[in-house]
Amino acid sequence: MTNRWDVVVVGAGPAGATTALLLARAGASVLLVDRARFPRDKACSEYLSPATTEILQRLGGGILDAVEGSAHAKLYGMKVVAPCGAAMCGRFRGGPRPYSFALPRTTFDTILVVAAARAGAEVRECVTVENLVFDHGTVAAVVGRSGDGKRETYGSRVVVGADGLRSVVARRLGLVRSSPPRRVAFTAHVADVAGIDGVGELHVSERGYVGLGPVGGGITTVALVLPLAAVRHGRRDFRTGFFDELQRFPGLVGRFDPRCLVRDVLVTGPFAQWSRTAVAPGGGALLVGDAADFFDPFTGQGIYAALRGAELAAECLIPILTPCPPLRFGEGGRSEFPLSRRERGIGGEDRGPLAAVVLAPYARARRREFAGKWLLERLIGVGVGWPALTDRVVRRLAGRPDLADLLVSATGNIVPARRVLAASVLVQFLW
Ligand SMILES: Cc1cc2nc3c(=O)[nH]c(=O)nc-3n(C[C@H](O)[C@H](O)[C@H](O)COP(=O)(O)OP(=O)(O)OC[C@H]3O[C@@H](n4cnc5c(N)ncnc54)[C@H](O)[C@@H]3O)c2cc1C
Repeated sequence: MTNRWDVVVVGAGPAGATTALLLARAGASVLLVDRARFPRDKACSEYLSPATTEILQRLGGGILDAVEGSAHAKLYGMKVVAPCGAAMCGRFRGGPRPYSFALPRTTFDTILVVAAARAGAEVRECVTVENLVFDHGTVAAVVGRSGDGKRETYGSRVVVGADGLRSVVARRLGLVRSSPPRRVAFTAHVADVAGIDGVGELHVSERGYVGLGPVGGGITTVALVLPLAAVRHGRRDFRTGFFDELQRFPGLVGRFDPRCLVRDVLVTGPFAQWSRTAVAPGGGALLVGDAADFFDPFTGQGIYAALRGAELAAECLIPILTPCPPLRFGEGGRSEFPLSRRERGIGGEDRGPLAAVVLAPYARARRREFAGKWLLERLIGVGVGWPALTDRVVRRLAGRPDLADLLVSATGNIVPARRVLAASVLVQFLW
């Protein structure tokens, strides 16, 4: 087994890079591995929900400046076009800034990986993690294969599975679950799309939906999301027929020139996959980001959840792995991690894998933080599969800008999801 680390983080996307950054900065020895070489592309609509900005500010290290200094767009809200053609537009209200950033993942993810390296994490690219090594039921190491085909085993006290939607770590832990709606996404970068202004757009039809948003430099990210069954049985190549498919959405007709495709169409899915718990039942590992849960991209909350989950993981791990006093990132009520390492009776000499019991507060903190978001995201994800329901809600919100702002701000995580989920508010979406 090669070098023993405090933490091996698998996957250097937003969840993994942020976890590595926070732990390395606090003094833990961190290895961050990814199968890709950065900058790498990622199928995504590339909008950072407005609450993400506050996390970027908290992370420090010049990250927010780097985002602001890169080619980006600012989005001030979201427009939703229903299958019947009705449209509603909600603005972001309630946060410190009335906008969110949108920029290519090649840029954003690289900013985070560079920041993690600068904070002291050792970054190894082109290393694909294939397996976990268990010691008496506890995760003690990962097995990775480097670009030249060499296999190495990386031992650590805790493995952080941040390897996204198809997480090998979650699968090897036997934690993966899935559920309807099963959808697949095709995403592309297109230049000079007509009619783009300062909001993101979501066009819903009986077949699926399209997300549209500028990411700076005259480029728009276009994400076509279809039911898995339609893609399987469609006998069509949705990559070559990408623009034809977009023309089926009335609000998109005539807005694209196929010659302006500036990046190949990427395919990803199916979604609606989550892990039964974010902590390995035998200890020694936890999950952050999409590896822990990802339902549907409609609300565009994944990057926020990845970063916020990384903060919660760091809050749990830092007092155990380093001499730092307990930390709390962001606002919020009672901390799940109120005790220092000494107070929790964790001896300084113990260098073994972390027991499930000391990682359990992380799983609890995730539930407290994300329960409302999970429910709202699932309700919307399932709701857009029912055209009549989408028509009704969009028609209703078109005449109630206050409710449209509330819904859009809740999906942007700048107002709590529970404000939308109150029965008295939910009924107003329909009647
Ligand atoms: C169509 C679509 C549109 C979306 N739009 C938005 C949006 O607008 N806004 C938003 O906030 N969210 C959006 N999301 C969700 C967002 O992309 C994810 O939630 C986010 O990328 C999660 O970050 P992550 O770090 O958990 O995973 P990822 O970003 O997927 O990173 C995982 C990393 O792990 C690496 N990896 C995977 N397997 C291995 C392995 N075996 N060994 C080593 N490395 C490995 C990968 O190379 C990758 O770099 C969208 C998703 C989809 C599919």
